[in-house]
Amino acid sequence: MNFPNSEKYYEEAQNVILGGVNSPSRSFKGVGGGTPIFMDRAKGAYFWDVDGNQYIDYLAAYGPIITGHAHPHITEAITRAAENGVLYGTPTRLENKFAKMLQEAIPSLERVRFVNSGTEAVMTTIRVARAYTGRDKIIKFAGCYHGHSDLVLVAAGSGPSTLGNPDSAGVPKSIAQEVITVPFNDIDSFKHAMEKWGDQIAGVLVEPIVGNFGIVEPVEGFLEMVNEISHDLGSLVIYDEVITAFRFMYGGAQNLIGIEPDMTALGKIIGGGLPIGAYGGKRKIMEQVAPLGPAYQAGTMAGNPASISSGIACLEVLQEEGIYDRLDRLGAKLEEGILKLAEAHNIPITINRLKGALTVYFNVGEVTNYTQAENSDGEMFSRFFKLMLNQGINLAPSKYEAWFLTIAHTEEDIDKTLTAVEHSFKELK
Ligand code: PMP
Repeated sequence: MNFPNSEKYYEEAQNVILGGVNSPSRSFKGVGGGTPIFMDRAKGAYFWDVDGNQYIDYLAAYGPIITGHAHPHITEAITRAAENGVLYGTPTRLENKFAKMLQEAIPSLERVRFVNSGTEAVMTTIRVARAYTGRDKIIKFAGCYHGHSDLVLVAAGSGPSTLGNPDSAGVPKSIAQEVITVPFNDIDSFKHAMEKWGDQIAGVLVEPIVGNFGIVEPVEGFLEMVNEISHDLGSLVIYDEVITAFRFMYGGAQNLIGIEPDMTALGKIIGGGLPIGAYGGKRKIMEQVAPLGPAYQAGTMAGNPASISSGIACLEVLQEEGIYDRLDRLGAKLEEGILKLAEAHNIPITINRLKGALTVYFNVGEVTNYTQAENSDGEMFSRFFKLMLNQGINLAPSKYEAWFLTIAHTEEDIDKTLTAVEHSFKELK
């Protein structure tokens, strides 16, 4: 495949848009550099780029596009919303309807607030947890990503559970000192951190099923233990379900696992592709938020009719019988196919999969925490990524991301993908 127009537009972009991209993960920095592909149009499971190349899409816009691109039911809802005016600055019935849908799907959301991104949703849950508990510190888990607010751009210090250091220039050291980072799935480190700081912890923030160093499920007893110890010491448990909600079932990972957090942050899928975030939780905790309580959060665009209409339509599509079984079936076919090819061509891989989301790690054993994901072979992934791209398979340009299936993918798409995987594996050797 050739990409002359993408190259031209990327050069143009770099003179007007910082780094040529509006989110760093879109650059090809994570795969050793190169020109990011400029997409022109998308429909169902497919992309067409500005050079006329066609791709099967497994990026799904980093998760939101579970119905496939331009799903007619969602497109119709967005069009209707546009015709009725896209922004009012007043309450609407649509917001009530959508909040009720979310609450029915995820019962721990006794009260909900809509915001505009996952970043905002998580950021606000932390503020509310602090307001409710009167404490300042939070615990998060290494390798989980929670958006780009100051509080969650904090890396672990040295040692298994220490006060953090800024993970981005511009994050004050004083703020990083309020964040303790613990390895995911490490029950002892979590206990140790809670013994040391438990009475200062406002909230424990966790992706209940990790999506940000690949798909990583909690080991047995881990999330139960997080809930138990946190609640014993008066800390709230906050689930970041920005990726997980409605990804694995109609509802949250919390429904799947059978554990209720105190608060939940949502985003991605619930907007059907338009910008959205939401947060919610137990009523007495949420009552901290203005206008009822002293914790402030607001938004000009929050709950706008276009995003809400798109979100309602997306959830309506996901209510159809058999959707998640289909995603699971396609995911299993893809996983089994890749594993078989890896064995035949002697490529050392590990696949973590849950339903229609999977991650392929190279040259590493099992992956249950961030350190193991970090140790997977980035150079091999980068070569694989580019080989796949050149055969019209669009993956996320990072060894840490998942492949997301959509309900638009077909068995035939999986077969074509496996043919590309086979060729890539032959070349990799
Ligand atoms: N939380 C998680 C788990 C995420 O994966 C992301 C984005 N990838 C965010 C929060 C931030 O969401 P947004 O990009 O919409 O701000």
